[in-house]
Amino acid sequence: MNEPDESASRTDRSPSVTVEGAALPSDPRRIEYTAVPAPGFGERTRIAENVWWARIPLPIDLNHINVWLIESARGHLLVDTGMSASMCKDAWERLDADAFANDPPLALFVTHVHPDHIGLASWLQERYSIPVWMSERSHELAEAVYGTVASPSRAEVEAFLRAHGVTDTTELQPLLKPERFARMTSGVPRVHQYLEDSQALDWESGEWRALSTEGHADGHLCLWRGQDRVLISGDQVLPAISPNISIMFQQPNANPLRAYLSSLERLRELPADTLVLPSHGLPFYGLRPRIDDLRAHHQAQIDKLLDACKVPLSAYESLPVLYRRELAGMHFLFALGEAVAHLEYLAHRGDLERQMRGEVIVYRRASGRAVG
Ligand SMILES: [Zn+2]
Repeated sequence: MNEPDESASRTDRSPSVTVEGAALPSDPRRIEYTAVPAPGFGERTRIAENVWWARIPLPIDLNHINVWLIESARGHLLVDTGMSASMCKDAWERLDADAFANDPPLALFVTHVHPDHIGLASWLQERYSIPVWMSERSHELAEAVYGTVASPSRAEVEAFLRAHGVTDTTELQPLLKPERFARMTSGVPRVHQYLEDSQALDWESGEWRALSTEGHADGHLCLWRGQDRVLISGDQVLPAISPNISIMFQQPNANPLRAYLSSLERLRELPADTLVLPSHGLPFYGLRPRIDDLRAHHQAQIDKLLDACKVPLSAYESLPVLYRRELAGMHFLFALGEAVAHLEYLAHRGDLERQMRGEVIVYRRASGRAVG
């Protein structure tokens, strides 16, 4: 995530590596976008029965987030929020004038803890006096990252970076300040209900169920309406970006890539004609081919690492194997996090062994494993 920049361009362009991930479009023949034109910022358009699609601009590389307004007879359930930035609030003001005059927001659901999704939850909660729903894990993480509970300290993050081969962290220092993360949100909302996997939402507009989908963010939930096959996919499945799968600080048994791949397996079981409503990009059909493309991308990264780790490599040294472009700032951190996630996945699987080179963790192909 870059520093919020209110003057950020509003054109649609693909990010390189961000918290949302790396640009990875599918072949246009493999997925089918709906014919519904994207609404302008702060505007809405109907995308499925009782479901409105609205766009909130973002002051980062990725210039928008899609939010969803699910109608009932009494008002709207909001899904996700945008960040704590004036351009995001302005868009909600416009939606307010257009959509909420007779049908006010009645509740807010947050798919996951990233600031573009949860950033204005507290602000919306105050404004409309509404309950907020999310997973317990998302709330716990929100408290850790944006709230008052102790989060991993800068010293811990630095130790993590050094252990993975980054020798000079000077340039990254400003990015690791806790205040920086707190600024992206309007505070941590009070949560009225923790939603669990497969739980039905207490909402009148068809039967929506929460689906636990891990890997991109701990506690991530999608929403699924089986009767007409609508999936609100959060950041788990995006049409043109491979979601970032990262280990960003010392988490001894973390294996987010395995979690992500098995969540994809689960989503792949949904009907082939599912309408996918992603947090970024355009709604589309073609969930299965999209999942296959995402899996193939990770497999290609894995193959490159297995080949390169004939000699011991730190995560830092593996970056040119995985990424051809120059990486700096947050892009560098997300790329390093993604490299660690892939290397750890292979270490957990027994294909790579961890060794120490001084203070640095290096990974090499496990003896007896013939690969490639
Ligand atoms: Zn995210």
